[in-house]
Amino acid sequence: MRVTEGGVELEVPSEQTEGVEESVFYNPRQELNRDLTIATLRAFREREERAESYLDAMTASGVRGVRAAADGWEVTCCDLETDAIDLARENLERNDLAADARVEHRNVNALAHDEAFDVIDLDPFGSPMPFADAAFARCRDLVCVTATDTAPLCGAHFNSGIRSYSAVPRNTDYHTEMGVRILLSALARSAARFDVGVEPIFTHATSHYVRTYLELDRKASAADAAIENLGYLSHCEDCLYREAEYGMIADPLESCPECGGDRILVAGPLWLGPYCDDEFVAAVREEVPDAFATAEKARELCDDLVAELDRPTHYDQHKLCKNWGLPANAMDDFLADLRAAGHAASRAHYGGTTFKTDADVGEIREATERNLE
Ligand SMILES: [Zn+2]
Repeated sequence: MRVTEGGVELEVPSEQTEGVEESVFYNPRQELNRDLTIATLRAFREREERAESYLDAMTASGVRGVRAAADGWEVTCCDLETDAIDLARENLERNDLAADARVEHRNVNALAHDEAFDVIDLDPFGSPMPFADAAFARCRDLVCVTATDTAPLCGAHFNSGIRSYSAVPRNTDYHTEMGVRILLSALARSAARFDVGVEPIFTHATSHYVRTYLELDRKASAADAAIENLGYLSHCEDCLYREAEYGMIADPLESCPECGGDRILVAGPLWLGPYCDDEFVAAVREEVPDAFATAEKARELCDDLVAELDRPTHYDQHKLCKNWGLPANAMDDFLADLRAAGHAASRAHYGGTTFKTDADVGEIREATERNLE
């Protein structure tokens, strides 16, 4: 099957012959992820001019590597599967890029051990953690990570989440953001083992994956600074009150200061700091050309992320109103009421009824009820 994406032409196994909806070689649902990768690499090159080499660590059909090579990066495509390697080679040749990219039939951890890269892109099926240490050990500038195991990340598969991420995830009304913060915490701790500090400059949660781009600062003090972004979250299952506390030693709430209940869930260590650099996200937006099939969606997502308040964690208006037995009004009116009551408030990119605010759950209810009177 022939597909065109981002100006390159690729041969990929047809979905019929694979017999599964999501081909391991080419997943059309990840086109937004890949379009944003190219835009991010363009914006990053402006930010860090020495960045030249790019490792597509799980290359499969080679689509990311081919697109990065077409954009002028010194690309290495790596995969363990012979079929994938053959396909990646074929796709580089098809686009006259065979001379611009190397193909490595190897275990990527071994490759990253032998050689340093400016940018390493991890896009595995499931958890990226088996590859994180090798990536942070040698990568110079930017580590890009996709995680598709959202059930372990968000606490729906509790034990699996603990095993994969050495952290306690909890299934809450902000489960996707829980996944984002569990992933970033595990990656920051992995990098710190090598005296590397991470700064998440662009992160988004989209349908069935989390994607993040971590800028590296290879010094111990930067690793210490990154670790300072970690902490714990206490969450009341009854009234949805939540409280974040920084630090590596948990000191969770025993009862809820809002409703007095004792059904408190504790999650962590989580990344509690910012997961986007708004200026960088705005720069990524500028690098999305009209020619990308997902251009409109990609720009919308960037706009949403820039507008989103930087706070753990988001609320869901419908869930709050249901909890209170109140009717849910239009989101814009709801947010306007919060602002009129003196609180900061924004939509969140996790869904149409999600929002962030500096008000706690009692203050949100007050602002909402005042308006209904
Ligand atoms: Zn409570």
